[in-house]
Amino acid sequence: MKPEEKITKLREELHRHNYLYYVLDKPEISDYDFDRKLKELQDLEEKYPEFHDDNSPTLRVGGAVTKNFATVVHEHRMYSLDNSYSKEDLENWEKRIEKQVDGEVNFTCELKYDGASISLTYEKGEFKQAVTRGDGIQGDDVTNNVRTIRSVPLRLKGDYPQKFEIRGEIVLPYEGFAHLNAARVEAGEEPYANPRNTASGSLKLQDSAEVARRPLDCLLYSLGGNLPGIETQYESLQKARKWGFKVPEEAKLAKNLKEVMDFVNYWDVHRHDLPYETDGVVVKVNSLHQQEELGFTAKAPRWAMAYKFKAEQVSTKLNRISYQVGRTGAITPVANLEPVQLGGTTVKRASLHNADQIEKLDVREGDEVYVEKGGEIIPKIVGVDFTKRDPDSSPTKYITHCPECNTELVRNEGEAQHYCPNFNGCPPQIIGRIQHFISRKAMDIEGLGGETVALLVNEGLISNYADLYELKKEQILPLERMAEKSAENLITGIKNSKKIPFERVLFALGIRYVGETVAKKLAKHFKNIEALRKAEKEELESVDEIGDRIAESVVEFFANQENVKTVERLKGYGLQLEISAEKLANQTSKLEGQTFVVSGVFEMSRNDLKKLVEDNGGKISSSISSKTSYVVAGENMGPSKLAKAESLQIPIIDEKKFLQMIE
Ligand code: AMP
Ligand code: ZN
Repeated sequence: MKPEEKITKLREELHRHNYLYYVLDKPEISDYDFDRKLKELQDLEEKYPEFHDDNSPTLRVGGAVTKNFATVVHEHRMYSLDNSYSKEDLENWEKRIEKQVDGEVNFTCELKYDGASISLTYEKGEFKQAVTRGDGIQGDDVTNNVRTIRSVPLRLKGDYPQKFEIRGEIVLPYEGFAHLNAARVEAGEEPYANPRNTASGSLKLQDSAEVARRPLDCLLYSLGGNLPGIETQYESLQKARKWGFKVPEEAKLAKNLKEVMDFVNYWDVHRHDLPYETDGVVVKVNSLHQQEELGFTAKAPRWAMAYKFKAEQVSTKLNRISYQVGRTGAITPVANLEPVQLGGTTVKRASLHNADQIEKLDVREGDEVYVEKGGEIIPKIVGVDFTKRDPDSSPTKYITHCPECNTELVRNEGEAQHYCPNFNGCPPQIIGRIQHFISRKAMDIEGLGGETVALLVNEGLISNYADLYELKKEQILPLERMAEKSAENLITGIKNSKKIPFERVLFALGIRYVGETVAKKLAKHFKNIEALRKAEKEELESVDEIGDRIAESVVEFFANQENVKTVERLKGYGLQLEISAEKLANQTSKLEGQTFVVSGVFEMSRNDLKKLVEDNGGKISSSISSKTSYVVAGENMGPSKLAKAESLQIPIIDEKKFLQMIE
């Protein structure tokens, strides 16, 4: 086959598998095979740049950087929607409509996806442009970023029109949002507040490779312009689905308002089962002809109506605003509330995020505030009941000094959070850092818990993690609740941690943005702490998946002499600050590109098994999904996992078979 043909064929195959995976969620090949084909295509494209294609599947990983987003005027204005909150509202709307159009009126009911609206243009079946809603008249060209969203088709199939526009919503499903936040917390960053803002913020990132890493999804709901052969909204959804777009299957035809209300009432309850956030239902007049007759008001179409779900919201008194200092020094304001029932749990605290948020809402101590549960983990304050405000109250003054160590706070350009810069002298930072150091995924020091760490720091026995290795039994025995046996265990635990491998020591150091995975990558690349300490920013950035933010943070860490001294001390105590020779010898890439889920009890320890997977280049995941390549099953594997693996047709192998794979 000629290279051009081969390239075309690979692109077609990859577009198809991408569609099967991300739109239909029914993959036909393993991730491994997909990655192999992608690699093959990448190699060919590199060798034959003359066959470049803006919509090649290889460009999904991003890389294009947009410094300034160009402004684009929408060909058809992107309207807002009118809102309704009750059956009566909808009945009034229906009466208005019936006066203006002839014939019977049917409706299409859709969910109202809560994300960022987007307009996509296609020409000759190729993805051409993506523009944000902006002010409705003009928006930003975010084409490079949207191209990385896997469920946006880059090539269409079937009988698509030559040129058309389609609109939809970019959302960040809960699961991806939770993963993203878990990774941020692990790397010592502030978690994102909610999926919607994170989705719209992602569209405006300059680096499309960063967008590609965010598990965004694109749900389509409307075709623009007059397209031949399409008479109704419902048909247009079906057509778009056939051309390869992700159009949620929940959409339903309703013959009358009663059926509309059935849809609303059903989803008001069941929306929590959906993988992404919704804030209501959108009811649309089904006939496109009738839609045209109805037209638009200045703000919204007359033929559509949003029905807003009631957010689970309560009001309660804000007793006090307190400020927490995290292990990286970030300050989080917390609302301490009069306890109140919300969505089945008692809520006592809510996040206020940062100084801007407090100012925006104008929240004050003593206010009656509205509390809501959204996609976030802890509830948030969404507003103040100003009718109940004490007329003598004055606006909240954000703290200027650290509540723990009284150091003046700083706020970096472009960051929402205030920081306490007293890295080495602020108690919660010192304690937090040592607690991170001893935690299970880091040094895993047995016999030492978070509270004891706080006690040791408060008693002045330790002030950084290196001090742990000089602790003597006699020093800790006098502490509260410390008996002979527990003191011994603690000392032994500390001693045993000297065997913990380099990559985990690196993670334990608590360098900002260096989470578990990044630590592994750095350890593998630099092999020892000396090489890492000497690395310049450029070299760090050349490592797979290490961006400038991480690189900067590593450089900054080693630029601080205190840190260098601490690391030297750790080395002196005999901690592993280089990759072990044995590990070097045992590493292979036999499992490259494959994801394993380990379940049940094995001959070897589960951790050893997981380590084998990683040493051979494979990935470990905790839950089974269509992305899992193999489930390694031991004795007593959980029945639900088994059922899930079977339903997704994921090969289940035993320990022996697994060992054969890496032999
Ligand atoms: P609003 O921003 O509250 O005025 O609501 C209008 C927005 O709802 C539109 O700009 C869309 O981004 C969004 N939306 C979400 N789901 C749908 C849907 N199924 N049909 C139309 N608009 C939708
Ligand atoms: Zn402080």
